[in-house]
Amino acid sequence: MRIVVCVKWVPMLSKLEFDPETRRLKREGVPGEVSSFDLRALTAAVALRAQHGGEVVALTMGPPAARDGLVECLALGADRGVHFADAALAGSDTLATARALAAAVRREAPDLLLLGRASVDAETGQVGPEMAELLDWPQATAVRRLTLDLAARSFIAEREADDGFETVTGPLPAVVTAAEDIAEEKFPNKADRQAATAKPIASVSLADVGLGADQVGAGGSPTWVAGVEAVTVERRRELIAGDTPEAMVRALGERLRAIGALDAGGDRRQPLPSGAPGTGVPVWVVAELGPSGVLPVTAELLAKAAELARTLGGPVEAIVIGGGATYAAALAAAGADRVLVADDPALVPYVTEAHAAVLADAIIARQPRLVLLASTVRGRDLAPRVAARLGLGLTGDAIDLDVDTEGRVRQMKPAFGGAIVAPILSRTRPEVATVRPGVLRAARPDPSRHPVVDTLAVRVPAARVRVVSRQPLDDAAAGRARRGGRRARCRPRHRRAGRSRPNRRVGAASRCGDRRHARSDRRGLAAEAAPGRRHRTRDRAAALPGARRERQHGAHGRRARRRNHRRRQQERQGADPQVRGFRAAGGSGGGAAVPGGGASPVSPPRVAQARRPT
Ligand SMILES: Cc1cc2nc3c(=O)[nH]c(=O)nc-3n(C[C@H](O)[C@H](O)[C@H](O)COP(=O)(O)OP(=O)(O)OC[C@H]3O[C@@H](n4cnc5c(N)ncnc54)[C@H](O)[C@@H]3O)c2cc1C
Repeated sequence: MRIVVCVKWVPMLSKLEFDPETRRLKREGVPGEVSSFDLRALTAAVALRAQHGGEVVALTMGPPAARDGLVECLALGADRGVHFADAALAGSDTLATARALAAAVRREAPDLLLLGRASVDAETGQVGPEMAELLDWPQATAVRRLTLDLAARSFIAEREADDGFETVTGPLPAVVTAAEDIAEEKFPNKADRQAATAKPIASVSLADVGLGADQVGAGGSPTWVAGVEAVTVERRRELIAGDTPEAMVRALGERLRAIGALDAGGDRRQPLPSGAPGTGVPVWVVAELGPSGVLPVTAELLAKAAELARTLGGPVEAIVIGGGATYAAALAAAGADRVLVADDPALVPYVTEAHAAVLADAIIARQPRLVLLASTVRGRDLAPRVAARLGLGLTGDAIDLDVDTEGRVRQMKPAFGGAIVAPILSRTRPEVATVRPGVLRAARPDPSRHPVVDTLAVRVPAARVRVVSRQPLDDAAAGRARRGGRRARCRPRHRRAGRSRPNRRVGAASRCGDRRHARSDRRGLAAEAAPGRRHRTRDRAAALPGARRERQHGAHGRRARRRNHRRRQQERQGADPQVRGFRAAGGSGGGAAVPGGGASPVSPPRVAQARRPT
């Protein structure tokens, strides 16, 4: 058995700098580390090898310094490393990255491909599903438990879903992306590091995997980062005084009431744009439905679609995959001019390949201008699979969209733990984006709008992955998960265990993208309290500072923990020159060309203060 684990070498966020001339990250001298979900995926792979035998191969696409990441993977138990380095890879977006990595994986012909659920820098979570589509393998994303049956050539995976957990099974080879819980975090000891020096690392170039330079890098990427907006936060900086805690609580309550923060009354939602819908190319929203009907995020997307459709000159269409016409009235009231229904028993429950086939066919047949999906677990599982099938650019987890002066849809993507917001543009049509739940505002429902319903002829292929069982969360937790998308699934472990304070994993947030988003989601909702304010950069800023703070603390916490761990080891085992050498090498930065995410033309927090033209 062979397992390939894709590991991304990411910069330590607090050390990033931006070159205003090239509009690229300066990597020289910036220490890096392996993205944390990837290390857990690797640990899970090593555990599977212990059970079944075989080998674990760590694969990275990155600059020369990324080799240090492979050394860490070898120390953690990988048998060999593959370093995919080629100057032409610089500036690759997720599709170009997936194309390059898939070509490297084909050479290895593994039984299983493991990736992190998302990187901790750009955090799109798209590379895994895009690779699955390019390899034509089944996929299971956000997996927290994984077992293999090599005799039957199959896997069983428990994965996170939007309303709880589900267990799926499918054939090997398969692509699995790892959630945080898939394995405990591990740290190599001195003996592991010594053993790693004897293990091989192969270098691979584009020519070795049979790709041309035009298929990767900026030229082979359908999306590009069009600039950077710094996230600046303005706070009131007020102190609440009082002699006793009770008096302070009273004073705080009065102050909050005075500024309207506790004012729950009144419906601040804006009405939908009036007048007949445009006759141009439609804007699509892929509807998500829950047990009690249309999810709030779908209403949020429909309101944004209605706003964009005004400028783009077309109607708003909601596509319901696996639902019925029952929801048409609610979708029309929320902003849909037309409801497209793709119904088939094979579409319930959700399985990636069936939904991807239906959505891809519908896009080809009807040619929408823009397709919006929710950045839920389902949306992030489905959108990249469809985008890769159609060769489309995809923006992951956008928090806002607008139309620029050239009529292009700019998709605002937060990254680097929320430190920046980058407008992403796409060369391909339709533009496709997943949008974070709870950040945009739904319109006031208009029950007088009458839906036009079209039933789509669907061709549902036999799905290779099948849902074996589902374990929904209790109602309250599911509600939180629906509102915040991820909050309920990623509670800090000390709370899950009923403890009041964490007793380990100081920097947990940095290894749990979802927790970061959860806090930023809450901020996004709070930002909506300002009446009549449009969701521009200020609102984006309000949506993000919690995320950034958690990221920074998380990074510090993680480094401190590693330092302490190494110090304890050194105390036990005597001075360890190799550890010091490894750490020094980690800080050496490295190359000129930065394949993978490394060369992305973005600004880090430090120099992003001045707003940049796009
Ligand atoms: C600010 C910013 C925003 C961006 N937004 C977008 C966007 O919206 N759409 C888009 O297409 N591109 C975007 N990019 C480019 C994108 O980050 C790069 O293509 C990157 O190489 C892969 O994306 P990711 O880090 O989001 O990967 P993810 O999909 O989040 O990574 C998931 C997993 O894939 C594996 N993986 C990813 N990259 C590598 C690698 N180089 N080597 C080995 N394994 C890897 C790891 O296992 C990782 O855990 C953005 C870049 C920046 C800097």
